[in-house]
Order: sequence, then structure tokens, then C-alpha cells
Amino acid sequence: MISPRRGTTTTRPAALTDDLLESLVARVPGSSGATWKLTEVYTGELLVELPQSTQEDIERAFREARAAQRLWAQWPVKKRLEVFERAHTLLLDNALTTTDLIQAESGKNRRMAVEETCDPPMIISHYLKRAPKLLTPKKHGGPVPFLSSSTEVHVPKGVVGIIAPWNFPFATGLSDAIPALMAGNAVVVKPDNKTALSPLYGIRLLEEAGLPKGLFQVVCGEGPDVGPTLIDNADYVMFTGSTATGRVIGERAGRNLIGCCLELGGKNPMIVLDDVDAEEWVESATFGVFGNTGQICMHIERIYLPESRYDELRDVFVRRAANLRIGASYDFGPEIGSLVSPDHRDRVASHVEDAVAKGATVLTGGRARPDLGPAFFEPTVLEGVTQDMLAGKTETFGPVVGLYCYRTVDEAIKLANDTDYGLNASVWSGDIARAEAVAERIDSGNVNINDALATAYASKATPSGGVKNSGVGARHGDQGLLKYTDVKNVAVLKKQVLGARPGQDYDSYVKQMLSSLKLMRRLRVR
Ligand code: NAD
Repeated sequence: MISPRRGTTTTRPAALTDDLLESLVARVPGSSGATWKLTEVYTGELLVELPQSTQEDIERAFREARAAQRLWAQWPVKKRLEVFERAHTLLLDNALTTTDLIQAESGKNRRMAVEETCDPPMIISHYLKRAPKLLTPKKHGGPVPFLSSSTEVHVPKGVVGIIAPWNFPFATGLSDAIPALMAGNAVVVKPDNKTALSPLYGIRLLEEAGLPKGLFQVVCGEGPDVGPTLIDNADYVMFTGSTATGRVIGERAGRNLIGCCLELGGKNPMIVLDDVDAEEWVESATFGVFGNTGQICMHIERIYLPESRYDELRDVFVRRAANLRIGASYDFGPEIGSLVSPDHRDRVASHVEDAVAKGATVLTGGRARPDLGPAFFEPTVLEGVTQDMLAGKTETFGPVVGLYCYRTVDEAIKLANDTDYGLNASVWSGDIARAEAVAERIDSGNVNINDALATAYASKATPSGGVKNSGVGARHGDQGLLKYTDVKNVAVLKKQVLGARPGQDYDSYVKQMLSSLKLMRRLRVR
């Protein structure tokens, strides 16, 4: 039975004073005076009026960012990185205030909010180690051994535009900006209106750590209002959000001939093999489906169970889902929080209603919970979901999962791959080699073995992105920083030896050149 935990508190945390909230939004340009009512998700009460940026405000933000970037790019890399050494400490020292802000604006439970605050420090740690190597010019041999060389120099793109979603507002607002800044860029970020507070707070902490004022700008507004001006002024765009919006961003970036990275949606499958340890699996699977109230891009929406153990695994999973503590609270009681908004709750509900109308069965959950708050929806497990249902094909992005029975592993892989998305997948087995063989055959940017999603996402050294309709490019890894740079190839020829010597006939020049190439190959000289 799903019930709110006794003694939970929805009283707004003491740290979230009106002064704090108003001082955070004060840096958002909004010359027209228009504002957006940013509300506390648990109660629907107004938190603060968020200024909405006009086209002129956005253009001014870019001008200021560009001026600050010219100076920042001249700082030695070591000095730039010292800012992030200090920021790492400040972000962790203030993690609980950040947690309060994330919870208030997104409605997620406290565990998820705290974990979200850890992402930017993890990114900082990784790139503090890696950035000096990546940003040091690399000398390569040139076409003529000993007499020529070529040096790969990574120069910042300029001003990076970042468009972030509401589901991990602090992580997506800051973590993608950090490598861009380390590489010498300025950033203009557009958070979602609903969740602008936590990124604004994070940027304040970066500035306390010594990030020059003006380098990290924030503009706010509805996506279609702000997006075009932001993209038209940016030298690169980093977008995280839905596949539909990703197409709009990608088209505009393409017209402007600027690069972009698109981190989009998923319909992520989990394949459970017949030798799985049910107790170990069920905890991780429950988190993988219902963590962040199902609003994680990498969360699991389809679980494939082997016929030989279908009933046992289904029952274990449904029991755990039905016992999840759901509620509105700024303490660690609830395992599941709210959805982000009543609109989103309606979207999730529509997927469940559509599935039921077309013949699916609700094994647990399936209802909105207005008694808990305006946007709550129960953890929901469905059986009998088919491809003609919304929940069978398109991303629900809520606490809803379909269970499917498979007979052979080949069939499970075929079903898992039968989607336009390719963001994340999970494979479970008592035998890692067996699971790896399955992972190899899944079309997905990320595959977690014996975990649902966190291991891949937290592995910051490895690039993480989507394939098919789930994205273009990746974050993390070396490319997570290098994508924010242009490569300048500085080539040196010490003596004019290319081409025919004066008086040399063309036949002998060609002969000499071809035999030199053969000799160089034999000597392995480049
Ligand atoms: P969304 O695409 O509606 O919005 C994302 C951001 O884009 C918001 O800031 C929004 O204001 C802005 N936006 C909307 N329309 C725009 C336009 N025309 N031009 C410019 N900007 C525009 O997505 P959402 O509903 O906020 O977020 C949920 C989606 O994000 C899900 O599909 C989820 O899977 C995806 N997501 C993906 C990742 C990933 O890493 N792959 C991570 C988090 C979320």
C-alpha cells in the first residue's frame, strides 16, 4: 500500500528565505518587467517572480560574456583551474542549501536532490585531473621527417550556449558548463523556468570561488522565446532535453554552422537473465524505474523478464514498488517525491490511461495522488503493454514501467532494440561475461551491467551520450571538454624541401617522392 510517511514536513526549509530567492533571481536580465511565477512543487505556492529575458537582454548577456571571455582565455590554464579547486569545496560545503533549492523547485525526494548536488563536484574532480593534459598543445611529426612538425592547439570556441531541462537542473545547468569554462569559454545558460534557482545558486558559488563576473550569464524564458536568439549568438550549443526540441535546436545550429551536442530522451530497456539474484536485482531495478519519480533520462521504462522466472520476478518487483514510501518532505523519509508539475502529471496519467484503454493491466499504482500534493503520481507497474500504446513506444518520463516476458535471449535483445531511442540499457545476470555478450548486441549509448543507470553516468572518464533519436555527441570523457574547443593546426617547415628541387625534372621528383614514402613506411617514420 502506498502511503505518505508519518511526520513528514512540507514546511519550506529555513535556508530558503525570501532574501535568498530574490537575490538569486536578481541577476537574471528582464528589461520588459515580465516575470514567471516560480512555485514550490510540493505546495504550489509562489516562491519567487522570475524575470523573463527579452531578445535585447540575451544579446547584451552575450556581449558581456564575450568581453569577459577574451580576458579569461588569457589566464594560464593552471590559474583557471584554481578557481575550480576552490569551487569544489564551496559546492560541497553548501550542498544542503542546494538540496533544499532543488527539492523546492523540482519536487524530487531528498536522496535524489542530494545526489544531484554531487554531480558538479565529480565533474570538477575529473577535469581538474584531465584538463591540463587535454589543453596542453600536442606536437606531432609533419610530412617531412625531422624538418617539419605540426602542433595541435585547442582554443576555446568563445561563448557556449547551454539549454538545460528541469529534471536535473543543478547538474545540467552546471556540470556541462564546467569543462566549457575550464577550456577558456564563457557560458550563457538558459535553465527551465521551473527550475532556475539551483543553477543560479551554483553560479553564485562559482563566482565566490573566483570565477570572473560576467563570464557565466543566465537568461530565462520559455524555450521557443529564448532559444533562437541564444543559438544565433552562441559559438556552440549544449542542449539537454526532449528529442522533439533537440531537432529544433540541431536544425538551427546547423544553419548557423556551429557545433552542438544534443542529449535527448530514451525508452530504456532492462533485460534480466534467468540466473539473476532476485533480491539484489529488485532494489536496483526499483531505483532504476522510480528514482527521481521516473524523471531521469536514463531511467528504465521496459523490463524484459525470462519466462522461466517471470512470475517470481514480477511479484518481487511489484511488491517492492507497492511498498515505496511516497510523499512531500524535505527530510529523507520519502523514497519517491512528486512529479515536476501538474501538467507533467497529466502527461504521465495519459500514458497509463491509454495503456489501460488498449488492454494493459495495472499491477500496482496507476493513480494521481492529489492528497499528497498537486503533482504526485503513484509508482506504477503495467503488464500487457504493446507497441500501439503510448507507454509502449514513446518516453513517458514518469514512474511507470511495463513488464514483458521473453522466451529466448535473442528475442529479449530484439525487443529491447525495437525502439527509435538508444540512450541507456541495463542487463542483469549472475555471470558478467554472459551479460557483456548481451550488452554488446544492444543499440544504446550506455549499457549498465548489474546496475540500472548510475554506474555509467557516474563514470566521468567515459563519454556518455545517446544513439539513434537519443542524441548527438556526448558529455564526459575527453570529448566532454574538447567539444568546447576548436583545433588549430600550427605546422612548421624548417627548410623548403617540399616539391621538386630547382632544375629537377618532374619524373625524377615523382620517383623520389614515391620511394621516400615507401622508405618512411618501412622505417615507420611519419
Ligand atoms: P524540453 O525539450 O521540453 O525542454 C528542455 C529545455 O529546452 C528547457 O529549458 C526548455 O525551456 C527548452 N526549450 C523548449 N523548447 C525550446 C525551443 N524551441 N528552443 C530552445 N529551447 C527550448 O524537455 P524537458 O521536458 O524539459 O525535459 C525532459 C526531457 O529531457 C526528457 O525527454 C528527458 O529524457 C530529456 N533529458 C535527457 C537527458 C540526457 O542526458 N540525454 C538528461 C535529462 C533530460
